[in-house]
Amino acid sequence: MNVAVGARTDVGQVRDGNEDSYLLDEPLFAVADGMGGHLAGDVASSLAVDVIREGAGEQRVSDGDALAALVRNANARIYEKAQADASLRGMGTTCTLLLVRDDHAELAHVGDSRAYLFRAGELSQLTEDHTLVERMVREGRLSKDEAQHHPQRSIITRALGVDATVDVDVLSVELSEGDRLLLCSDGLTSMIDTGAIARILSDEADPQAAADRLVEEANGAGGEDNITVVVVDMTTAAGGRAAPPPPPAGDHARTDERPRADRIPHAQSPDATGAHAAAAPAPPRRRPWLRRVVVGVVVLAVLAGIAYAGVRYLLDDSWFVGVDDDGTVAIYRGIPEEVAGLTFSSVERETSLALDDVPESMRDQLEEGIKADSLKDAQAIVARFERRSRDIGGDAGRDRRSRDRRDDNTSRREAPSDAGRAAA
Ligand code: CA
Repeated sequence: MNVAVGARTDVGQVRDGNEDSYLLDEPLFAVADGMGGHLAGDVASSLAVDVIREGAGEQRVSDGDALAALVRNANARIYEKAQADASLRGMGTTCTLLLVRDDHAELAHVGDSRAYLFRAGELSQLTEDHTLVERMVREGRLSKDEAQHHPQRSIITRALGVDATVDVDVLSVELSEGDRLLLCSDGLTSMIDTGAIARILSDEADPQAAADRLVEEANGAGGEDNITVVVVDMTTAAGGRAAPPPPPAGDHARTDERPRADRIPHAQSPDATGAHAAAAPAPPRRRPWLRRVVVGVVVLAVLAGIAYAGVRYLLDDSWFVGVDDDGTVAIYRGIPEEVAGLTFSSVERETSLALDDVPESMRDQLEEGIKADSLKDAQAIVARFERRSRDIGGDAGRDRRSRDRRDDNTSRREAPSDAGRAAA
């Protein structure tokens, strides 16, 4: 089979620059969606595409493992560059790389750009998004539809350039004549749903016309992000479109100009092909920081989540005996200490024992909170206080030695001890 290709990228309606890049280097095709402040996102996505193209030029890429190696190599190169240049630190990019080989498609994939197969009017997503919302969908905490509109849908959990190594998804699909493959950045899929995408792919027989309309409709729906689409049609070896149609003026479908990457230049530094500049006509303005900020917020949220989980664990499994606002002795779940002015405890059980009933010498200790190893242990402490109160009330001077021993046991709750509990 041969292929016919259409592609387009667009800055969208909101962003200041286009940080997406794509590669048309038959039989290799890719979409990369960069993130990072200033120029970093664009550096990351264009470097991914460049490294992949160079790597593919040096060796015959024939299977998914070889594709994954190209992506891992791109990751290493982006990571090195980010480490070497403080202004680029934190940059990253998605990468969805497609190899069309005979009657197979091989894919290597990291991030939330997507590959779809459109076959017999049905659109199916081949790649899995490496995003927080996708994880929540898998865990049953969000529906697919909720994920599509979730405010944090663009937060990705895997990207090239963020770490020295990266996990790359590899998949393979058998192809038939008439199949249409779509690679796209999330600027398409976050703006129009799969029904609209399928309708366009069905309506527009020409791959370039399909690519153009996908971008137009995403822009029409708001164009909140950069939009990049690559449409690859499987055609017959003879008689079909053996080569992609010539790119219309102002566009840049290209399959045979090896070696070169098709990526989007900055509007402020248009590359040699004016066609590219036409695709990204925004005047030079501030680069978007949003995605980087969002990733930072997520990292903080994850750390806070871990800390919260730790506190929750602490709360659920910690006990103490203290005094509530009414001056009544109570059993608390949590810890008696305040942290940064916050309390981490709640009353688990009230008792009928008033602080006033407790011998004066022990009230400070109770008001500070006496830690217990378990609810049962806390109940035992309360029972001892009740006994003591009765003892003191009935016979104030009786059995001082016994009382001292109990004090000793009580204080040992701070360092859990079976012997202490047994003695209680
Ligand atoms: Ca994007």
